[in-house]
Amino acid sequence: MAGFVSIRNLRKSYGSFEALRGIDLDVAKGEVVCIIGPSGSGKSTLIRCINRLEGSTRKRDPRGRHPVTTGRALARVRAEVGMVFQSFNLFPHLTVRENVMLAPRRVRRTTRADAAAQADRLLARVGISSQADKYPEHLSGGQQQRVAIARALAMEPQVMLFDEPTSALDPEMVGEVLDVMRDLARTGTTMIVVTHEMGFASQVADRVIFMDAGQIVEQGPPAQVLSDPKNHARAISWAPC
Ligand code: ADP
Repeated sequence: MAGFVSIRNLRKSYGSFEALRGIDLDVAKGEVVCIIGPSGSGKSTLIRCINRLEGSTRKRDPRGRHPVTTGRALARVRAEVGMVFQSFNLFPHLTVRENVMLAPRRVRRTTRADAAAQADRLLARVGISSQADKYPEHLSGGQQQRVAIARALAMEPQVMLFDEPTSALDPEMVGEVLDVMRDLARTGTTMIVVTHEMGFASQVADRVIFMDAGQIVEQGPPAQVLSDPKNHARAISWAPC
């Protein structure tokens, strides 16, 4: 049965280099999938293809329910998929609250009052209500990333994608962002997370996917993939980048 996200034989080339070499991936509603693997294995490319930041070289799946494979309009895809990047990419000239309000105002034509109320709810959810009127430059990296999560949630996406969301943070700020992501997972958010945080993956993921050289080489419950690797013995000692 096709999943909530359903991808078949996804391929992506940069020139003659094949970054993704035939990915099949189904993610169920409410499932948390963590993608791990050595640097350059295609994790980021995969997640960017899911968000259509990258066009795939070839894809086919008339059965898939998710916009990745059904060819709906790009704007619609983006509205259904929330993405959080390594770098927070907040708008520096907007306050924290305005950053969260922007997409609902522009894309959904939500009224200013409704968008502000929703932003305040989301900022409370990520634990930074008190920062709502500040500009991003006055926030710590961890706080900015939590705003970025709130901003992505504002479009009420069906799937949240995270591309190494804690890699750019000082170590002492990693925990606060992972806590927010834990809370999202606990409350049923469908999540696909590229991460080097093995503790997070082992505690929170329903499934861990190990990629190498553009392919999924192993997947399964965290305990199986992280502690009993079948295919990735040679890569198990990779250094987080
Ligand atoms: P990961 O996220 O696992 O570190 P990436 O998906 O970023 O890996 O990259 C996979 C491969 O594709 C790497 O070899 C990388 O150099 C290459 N790649 C990624 N983006 C581009 C691009 N825009 N142009 C050319 N090569 C790219």
